Amino acid sequence: MSILSIFVNGIAVLMVTVPVPVALFSQQPAHVPAGSFDPQIATAVHEVSAARIQQTIEKLVSFETRQTLSSDMPASTGKGANAAAGWIQSEFERYSKDCGGCLEVKTAEFIQEPGPRVPKPTKITNVYAVLRGNDPANADRIVLVTGHYDSRNSDTNDATAPAPGANDDGSGTAVSLECARVLSKHRFPATIIFLTVAGEEQGLYGSAHFAKMAKAQGWDLEAVLNNDIVGGDRTPGDTLQDPHVVRVFSEGIPSTADEKQLKTIRALGGENDGPSRQLARYIASVAREYLPPATLQPLIVFRRDRYLRGGDHFSFNEQGYAAVRFTEFRENYNHQHQNVRIENGIEYGDLPKFMDYDYTANVARLNAATLASLASAPAPPANVRLLTKELQNDSTLAWEASPGGLATGYEVLWRDTAASDWQHVQAVGNVIRATVPVSKDNVVFAVRALDAKGHRSLAIVPMPER
Ligand SMILES: [Zn+2]
Repeated sequence: MSILSIFVNGIAVLMVTVPVPVALFSQQPAHVPAGSFDPQIATAVHEVSAARIQQTIEKLVSFETRQTLSSDMPASTGKGANAAAGWIQSEFERYSKDCGGCLEVKTAEFIQEPGPRVPKPTKITNVYAVLRGNDPANADRIVLVTGHYDSRNSDTNDATAPAPGANDDGSGTAVSLECARVLSKHRFPATIIFLTVAGEEQGLYGSAHFAKMAKAQGWDLEAVLNNDIVGGDRTPGDTLQDPHVVRVFSEGIPSTADEKQLKTIRALGGENDGPSRQLARYIASVAREYLPPATLQPLIVFRRDRYLRGGDHFSFNEQGYAAVRFTEFRENYNHQHQNVRIENGIEYGDLPKFMDYDYTANVARLNAATLASLASAPAPPANVRLLTKELQNDSTLAWEASPGGLATGYEVLWRDTAASDWQHVQAVGNVIRATVPVSKDNVVFAVRALDAKGHRSLAIVPMPER
């Protein structure tokens, strides 16, 4: 390794050229790790409780319906969206009491104007809790977990008939709450937000309102984890469900890419490297670190969502944020968006009896480990470039230091263009420029920051610089 110092704006900056031994290519681990094992994160993961998740989901079901249009029903009836929102708020407040007031519990209420599934002006309430980062230089960085607490039955606009919504999306709501409960016992440099939204079934209204608020206020939202239908449906006789797999959907090309950016993506083969996809890869590596394979592993799906379906991650994607969706391996359509009934011997309805609480707990563990890993890690390096001024077989990458002061070094990642995940990692030290003897024409590169304990940031794919 050759090292020299240069001066940038009067500050000495190390530059490094890294000779990569040929043997490195065969000695690489099967997967590039997300970070070093952190006992604090493992403790939080361990504290996730299937019994607590069951209590949460059963309580949510007890409101009979949480359909968004039921928000004109007074909370005092103990039924409807208002009563559910009030209970979620009180639950966040209870967790906060247990951590000395560490959570800021908030509601964001607005009136949704009429639309296709909103026949009259309707109150929608998002409820969330903020675990503020304990490092002032990193507290403005935010990672977020969400689920939608509204439910529906066969008729999207039926606000009165039962809509238990145990799986869709009591399960995702329970994941957000359980992450708040276990992570509020710990402190992280960056901020974590635990969100529950309504209006999803009427057209993603709650999440759209929240994502637009984040954008308007200039939030540095690094990652959004949307959990929707993570109940692990158990139907007697169904042998095709896999209780050890959760699907993670992510868009490849950012929803917000403009014509110029699309041109660059086409030219470079960047269709598989948008920020949401980097987040999905990060989740896969976190799972390998913190969840034994016998419990749960993510199935990374290179697709924005399932056919004919959408979810709250879209709202965040459309504001330019990295956002992914967690969903159980195999859905049972008799147990979602259905009136509760028995017809021709088939039981319909989104009922607690079909839930696998151990499964939802494992999904919550993966969410908690991902949130904790990102909130512990340095910010990603900024303005990452691949220098393409000259034709050469080596590749030189340059970047600006990770803001916030946590980074103690950087790693260059790469993979074959046809590979789905990072295959190689090279530590390059605390530098802002590195050269590796690998042709940029043959691989995809990225750079990430790491701290002294080995927490890694999200990977940033470089833009070419001529
Ligand atoms: Zn849903």
